[in-house]
Parts: sequence; C-alpha cells; structure tokens
Amino acid sequence: MTVLDFEYAPALKVPDSFDPERDLTICVRRGDLIVPEPGRIWHSGMHDLVENQRVQIGRLNGRLLRCVDVPDVPEGWASLGLRDYLLNSDEQSFRVAGLSVQIMNWFRQQNFCPQCGNALEFTENDRALQCAYCQYRDYPRVNPCVIVSIRRGDEVLLAQSHRMRSTGIYSCLAGFVEAGESLEEAIVREVREEAGIDVGDIRYVGSQAWPFPHQLMLGFVAEYRSGELQPDTREIADLGWYRADCLPKIPPHQTIARQLIDQALRSD
Ligand SMILES: [Zn+2]
Repeated sequence: MTVLDFEYAPALKVPDSFDPERDLTICVRRGDLIVPEPGRIWHSGMHDLVENQRVQIGRLNGRLLRCVDVPDVPEGWASLGLRDYLLNSDEQSFRVAGLSVQIMNWFRQQNFCPQCGNALEFTENDRALQCAYCQYRDYPRVNPCVIVSIRRGDEVLLAQSHRMRSTGIYSCLAGFVEAGESLEEAIVREVREEAGIDVGDIRYVGSQAWPFPHQLMLGFVAEYRSGELQPDTREIADLGWYRADCLPKIPPHQTIARQLIDQALRSD
C-alpha cells in the first residue's frame, strides 16, 4: 500500500526554491488529470510547460508539490477523469489529486475581485487570492454536504440516483446543508424529501473531501424510525432495504459512502 506524507502549504505561490528536477508537479486540464502513464499522476523532471496557471499544493513525502493547468494534452500523455482515478487509486492519493483539481478549478475561475473588478493576486501566507485595491480575499470554496447510512434492524437503505444509473451503483442518501440548518436537521430533511421516511439516533462517523466540485462530505449513521419508502423520483431511480448477504453494487472502499454502509451493517 502507498504511504503518503502530505503537508498543507499556507500559500498558493510556488516558492522560488521549487526545483523541477527534484520536486513534483501534477498537471490538470479542465478538471481532468493529465498523465504520462496509467497510475502515475505526479512527476519530477517537469520543466516549464506553461508560464502561468500554476499553484503550490503542499509538500508530498518531503518534496514540494505544485499543480499546473496545461492548455493541451502533451503528445503521448492522456486525460484521466477524477472519478476514474478514484476507482483505481488509494484514499491518500485520491485526496492529493482531488485537492489539486479543486484548487486549480477555483484558481482558474477566480481572476477578478467580485467587489471591485480588479485583478486578484497571491497572498504571502494564506491559501487565498487578494484584491490589492479593496483588500477583498477569496478562498477556495467548500460546500458542506451530509451523507447518511440508514439502518433498520439488520438492513441498510440504499438508493440509486439517476446520475449513477449507468454505473449500477447503489449508495447512501446525501444532500447539501442549507443556510441556517444544523447537520442533523439537514439529514432529517434530506431523508424525508428523498425517501419519505423519518430517522433518529443520528451519529457522526467521519468526513471526506469530495472534489466534485468542492464538497465536504460529513458522514453519519442513523436509525429508521417510521414511514413507508416514497422515493423522490426527480433524483432517485430506485430505493430499497438490503441485508449484508444480498447487497447490490455499492461504492468502492475509498469512499465515505462505503465506510458508512459497512458501519451500518455491522451489528454493534
Ligand atoms: Zn477589490
């Protein structure tokens, strides 16, 4: 198993000490990873592909890591979608890849100050862009989402969204936290809206950054309380209770959704 030591960098500007021979580069284009060979997304020996559109991501196994937005796919390289990478990587590598794509997507889109329209610039010690004219600071966006695995006796509720229909995957219910809501309130509302049932005994399990495009998934397990399943057909294609011995196709182990399903099916 890959062991990665990733360290946060408190500035976006790539340090002058960055050495392309020794240090690491991740290339992205329009939200996809650009890779020279399968399974390898960071590289040394990357000399200047482009002059602009580069940011510092952090330090990986002691080496500086930057992300570069390339205008074209170099000859012999390939474009790799982040979802495809998720299926073929470990949790730590996916975290670094997702962070890089997320930061670069934001950086590419956020060129001008939303208050006064002047150009935004790097700051010294913050992962932010600042307007030199009005001092407005813009930070990478993070949207909190709740994701919940619901248990009824020895069964777990699994749903297939229309979006996931082509993959055949069934997963937990999830949704954005609305302004003014607690996480628990968001869960109760989402489950009622999407499945038509009431839940209680909501317990926090863990979280995962989810860069599609900038969610933070906050994972919970809850107990079924009452109501008949009534899926919201605008979002949900199919919905049902499943026992551990007859599960449909569920998300891969690297995802918080899978960890929540596994937890809900444990008998403790
Ligand atoms: Zn401004």
